Formats: sequence, C-alpha cells, structure tokens
Amino acid sequence: MFNFTATNHSQTSKARLGKLSTPHGTIETPAFIFCATKAAIKGMTPQSMRQENTQIILANTYHLMLQPGPEIVKQMGGLHGFMGWDGPMLTDSGGFQIFSLGHGSVTEEIKRTRHSARPKSLLKINEEGAIFKSYINGKRYTLTPEKSIQVQQALGADFIVVLDECTPFHVDKSYTEQSMHLSHRWAQRSLQEFQKGQSGVQALYGITQGGVYPDLRKISADFVNNLPFFGHAVGGSLGANKTQMAEVVEMAMEPLDPSRPVHLLGVGGVSDIFYGVLQGIDTFDCVHPTRLARHGGALVTPRVWESMTEDPKRREHMNLRNARFREDPRPIDETCKCQTCKNFSRAYIHHLLKARELLALNLLTIHNVHFMNRLLAAIRQAISLNQLEEEKKKWIP
Ligand SMILES: [Zn+2]
Repeated sequence: MFNFTATNHSQTSKARLGKLSTPHGTIETPAFIFCATKAAIKGMTPQSMRQENTQIILANTYHLMLQPGPEIVKQMGGLHGFMGWDGPMLTDSGGFQIFSLGHGSVTEEIKRTRHSARPKSLLKINEEGAIFKSYINGKRYTLTPEKSIQVQQALGADFIVVLDECTPFHVDKSYTEQSMHLSHRWAQRSLQEFQKGQSGVQALYGITQGGVYPDLRKISADFVNNLPFFGHAVGGSLGANKTQMAEVVEMAMEPLDPSRPVHLLGVGGVSDIFYGVLQGIDTFDCVHPTRLARHGGALVTPRVWESMTEDPKRREHMNLRNARFREDPRPIDETCKCQTCKNFSRAYIHHLLKARELLALNLLTIHNVHFMNRLLAAIRQAISLNQLEEEKKKWIP
C-alpha cells in the first residue's frame, strides 16, 4: 500500500519528482502538508481543502492526546472518519509542542516567537520520556516513544513519526550530541513499538538529528538509513537564520538514503520551499499559510505587486488590512483560480477584516491554501521541464 518512487530530471540540482502512495491515495511530490492542528484546518472544511487541490494534511498528536483523547478519535473512525477527510494524512509525535512550543499564547502566535528556553509546562525529560502538564486541566502526562506510537496508531493517520527530543535553540555541541543519541534510542524504541502494530496500515518516518554540526548530521543519517523506516524527516536545529538553514539542510540531505521520501519539518516560506526542493526535499509542512490568513495576509507572486500603482515593499504576502485596499475592486490575484479570487474583491475582504467578520478568515485561508498548492504544482511542472531556476523568479519577490 505504501510506496515511493522519485525521478531526478535535473543535472544541476537534486530536485526530484515523486509519487508517494498511501492507503488513502497517492501524493505527487514535492508537496505541501497543511496543518489541521486539532483535527481542523482553522477556517476551512476538508471538502473545500480538496476543492483547492490539497493532497495531504497533518494533525498534531500533542493536542489530540489532551483533547478529545485518542480513544474518542479511534472510536469515531480514526482521524479520517472523525474529521471527514478521506485523503492522505500525517501525525507528528507530539514532541515539538512539548519540548519547544508549549501550547502557544495568542501573543506568541502573532509574533511567531522562537523560544530559546523550555516551555513551563515541560516538567522533566529523562531516558524514559518527557513529563509535562496539560494546558487544559493541569493534569500530568508522560510521553514516551512507545506512548507516542500508541497514540498515533489510535489516531490512524497514514504517516506517523518517531518521538525525538527537540532541543532548545542555541545549545552547544556536546548537548546536541547527547540529545542526538537520546533521540536515536527513542527512535529504536518507537520502531519496536510500531512493529508490534498492524502492518501495512501506517508508515513510520525516522528523524535525522545533529543540529548544525556536519559530523553529527552524518552519524545521524547513517543511523536512520540503517533502520527500516519508510521515510525520513529532517529534524534538530536548522540554525539561527535562513542562510544557516540552507547550509544545514544541505548537510543533512547529503548522506540520507535517496530511495526514501524526505520531509522538512516546519518550513513553509516560498523561498525556503524552493531551496528545499533544490536539495531534494519531497514534502514540507508549516502553519504559515493558514496562520498568515488569520492575520489578514494573502500570499502573492511578484507579478501581483507589479500591477499595483504605488510601489509598496514587496513581500511574499500582502496585508489586506491595509487602507490601500479599501476601494480596490480587483481580486487578490487576477490569475488565481481559487473560490475567493473568483468571487470576491480586495475591498470586500478589507471590509470583512475591519468589521471582524469571520468570513474574512475563511476567504483568506482558501486563497492561501490554493496558492501553496498552485506553487507546488508549478514547482513539479518546472522540475519535469528542468526549469526550476526560471520558475523561482516568478514566485520570489
Ligand atoms: Zn486566490
């Protein structure tokens, strides 16, 4: 049921086109995975996700473990049945929220704060796993590698992920190395637990660690290559900025087994996606497109900025709250075929935002989801024509 094939059409880069098969359908890669954090894409139904060409979504084990609990999701037909999405799905291990994010306050969401310290809800990490406090009722939970797999088996997504220790930012090499070895031991325990389950209904991803250190990245790649994971995710610290991230992704990718699909965790900016694709990354996920929509932002191509009379600062998105859109009758993007751009003007969305109408968030989310799917489709087409560098210019301001 699970299968992955990829072809590299380029002599100058590692970009590749792939087919990733699951029991719920086949994904054309490179692909973007949207975050349905608590088993819901914020502001959009699974049916309209499909309508805007979405191939795959993910849900967060951490949140669902606390509410409504894995037993209820399982009883209601697993995530697919519970939330009414019949396409491919992924769940993460729950580790990311526990180790580095906490549950995220509204301020953190707006400012996209990166934590250099552990969240307060994390009580203890030891060989066994992590002990943390629920943000809902203060109850103590222990998440072990085995427990994470059991919860993900109950949730029933197609792709599941091993538990790893997400290190805080700015830790030194010796901490990174110890943490890598702990994550490797947890990966082995995750795999053993996974192998006890029903075979063929889910596929397990291992995570490569090693932070920003080339020798550790090599050791970790050898480790995951030698275990029977279906795919790999690039984890660990990717560095402090975009330049360092590019270097780290390159050093992490180089020693990885090319026959397995590779997922880049938590990366979703347009230029970052082009960079990842050029390094051979097959799938990406990030809350960015849907979160941006909730703050009034619409993803746009440089061509949309060219049609603006004033010359505002060109970015990967435009803020529809801006007064310049008050009397603008055009859709967000005249070439966009999404349900929002087909039916509504910038002026209307601007008004909805100002009037705090919920519909604004729905309309912007639809556009951003469509934009990401259109971007990845354009990337796939460009890979097949070996024109990725030319295509990049059409998408990055
Ligand atoms: Zn649109």
